[in-house]
Amino acid sequence: MNINSDSKNFGQRTVLTIYAHADDEVLPAAGTLSLMSKAGWNIRCLILTDGSLSSSPIKGTRHKEADAAGKIIGATYEFFALEEYNFSTQAVIKVTEEAIGRWQPDLIITHAPQPEKYGHRDHEVCAIAVSNVATRKNITLWYSAPPVFLRGFEPNFFVDITSVIEEKVAAINCYESEVNKAFMQLDAILVLSRFWARELGQKDGYFEAFEISRQCVDASFFYAIANNHQVIKHS
Ligand SMILES: [Zn+2]
Repeated sequence: MNINSDSKNFGQRTVLTIYAHADDEVLPAAGTLSLMSKAGWNIRCLILTDGSLSSSPIKGTRHKEADAAGKIIGATYEFFALEEYNFSTQAVIKVTEEAIGRWQPDLIITHAPQPEKYGHRDHEVCAIAVSNVATRKNITLWYSAPPVFLRGFEPNFFVDITSVIEEKVAAINCYESEVNKAFMQLDAILVLSRFWARELGQKDGYFEAFEISRQCVDASFFYAIANNHQVIKHS
């Protein structure tokens, strides 16, 4: 038995989320990220664009809003200034590879690539590029639920976020500059969380849904579940 590699397996885990725009991360995953943070994970949120090259000069606003959301869900943000509606697959591949080098993530979460297309070019390019890198480097990869138009998204992993639903709502509310978007409305967010609960046959509670593209585990995965089970039993 290699003791060193065993001890590494029980070290802090890192999740890296890669999304095109600030707010893309909180809508589908704020609850899950909050739960992971509470469990000791290092949460790194990478945002490809910062609005600085778009028509509205909202760069500073987006940074502040993301930092406020990060305080609530326990995440640290990193912004890039790729040009909205114009960044290339190659640019995202480069950013992703560099971020993997910096953070050595155990898990990457990004947009779901939707073959049916729903018209959001930046999400599509991000999803394809990040999938390319994660698959090539054999890193566990989850896709989060699209904000609208779920066609092509096939969830197979559901997280009960009932205990942190208020934190999710608070994190989303940090994005005041985006509140006029239809999918940012509180009732729509809660309805989607309840929709996933219904899909699972649960009368109550709130859930987030993901599609596991690829998951690789080692022994620590099973130890973590067993230990967590003990904690729950004894608490
Ligand atoms: Zn977006």
